[in-house]
Amino acid sequence: MKEISCSFCGRKKSEVTVLIAGISGHICDDCVSQANLIVKEVAHDEGAPFSDGQLNLMKPAEISRFLDEYVIGQNEAKKVLSVAVYNHYKRITYKSSKKEDEIEIEKSNIIMVGETGTGKTLLAKTIAKMLNVPFCIADSTVLTEAGYVGEDVESILSRLLQNADYDVAKAERGIVFIDEIDKIARKSDNPSITRDVSGEGVQQALLKLLEGAVVGVPPQGGRKHPEQKMIQVDTRNILFICGGAFDGIEKIIERRVNTSSIGYSIKVGMSLETENILQHISPLDLKRFGLIPELIGRFPVLTHLDPLDESSLRRILTEPKNSLIKQYIKLFEMDGVKLSFDKKVLDFIVEKATEYRLGARGLRSICEAIMTDAMYELPSNKDEKEFKITLQYARDKFTKSRINKLKAA
Ligand code: ADP
Repeated sequence: MKEISCSFCGRKKSEVTVLIAGISGHICDDCVSQANLIVKEVAHDEGAPFSDGQLNLMKPAEISRFLDEYVIGQNEAKKVLSVAVYNHYKRITYKSSKKEDEIEIEKSNIIMVGETGTGKTLLAKTIAKMLNVPFCIADSTVLTEAGYVGEDVESILSRLLQNADYDVAKAERGIVFIDEIDKIARKSDNPSITRDVSGEGVQQALLKLLEGAVVGVPPQGGRKHPEQKMIQVDTRNILFICGGAFDGIEKIIERRVNTSSIGYSIKVGMSLETENILQHISPLDLKRFGLIPELIGRFPVLTHLDPLDESSLRRILTEPKNSLIKQYIKLFEMDGVKLSFDKKVLDFIVEKATEYRLGARGLRSICEAIMTDAMYELPSNKDEKEFKITLQYARDKFTKSRINKLKAA
């Protein structure tokens, strides 16, 4: 009788360890492993989470390349983030394998300074997705210190827990993005000023989370009630990334750089028009802006983002893996319609986003204004198999849209 063999690689039963029988063929253990790898790779490419909940840590250069697929420009921030994230997670994985080691590597919480809509949240979110760790966004403006109306800082972790499906161990190595950290700055650089609720009190309260303590977290978020059962979460390995526009910090940087010793290449009077002054940011500027030194000390990594110019906006429309234009094309494809855009339409969208000073967020609103009618009508129209957005069409739809009326008002 003929010896059975693997239907994939052709090796005989005697040449492999295990041969599994299917309905009309066989597969050997090697081919099973190979197939498993392919499935993982494809799932990763399509952005699906790793099913086994494994941390997916890449080397800094690889992290940065991964970010390139989703975020346009911001090379400095990408580099700094990649190193910080790599070190942070290496520290966790290394620690668990070598307990006797005396050297404690501190964690790399990060502050990103840059105009709104330049990609701060996107960077943090993309990194969490790459690492396959839980992620949440917390808005500093709703936080207050205990006892005041608002949310306790612990509620931030409720959201992280929810996103980790209440798996505490998973949440404990997640990433928390705290947005608008600049909004809890002390209103003056004078520490003797009477405590202000919105600012310094919240900063103090945040310290507790950042210090790496075990904190009681209300499972549903919001206020802590005495009768509510708390979940204990250890924040030691949670990575905190903060973002803020820090409006007006340019002046602080400029003043510091211009008055400090010679040796800096920046010239007096040089402004944002010629270079992004944020690239010179230092922890000292954050202190002058109104963050307390203890808090700044908990964020050893500081980086900046550049404002997005027209050419970056143009790239954002089409280049990222899930760019807006790719998403519209996909949406139409699901209805069997081949959608295309005239190049001039893309330039038009960027032009309007710049004109209305809407930044990258505006690209979406403008696209929606142009595309809504087509998205409404085409699915019911069985004959239409192709749809091309021309400049004339885009202009017409945009002129009739609410955004355009906004400007007129
Ligand atoms: P921020 O947190 O800096 O205010 P976001 O990261 O939330 O801004 O950006 C808002 C949206 O604009 C994102 O969802 C993304 O679609 C787009 N965007 C902003 N900056 C970039 C960028 N550098 N590359 C690609 N898309 C970007």
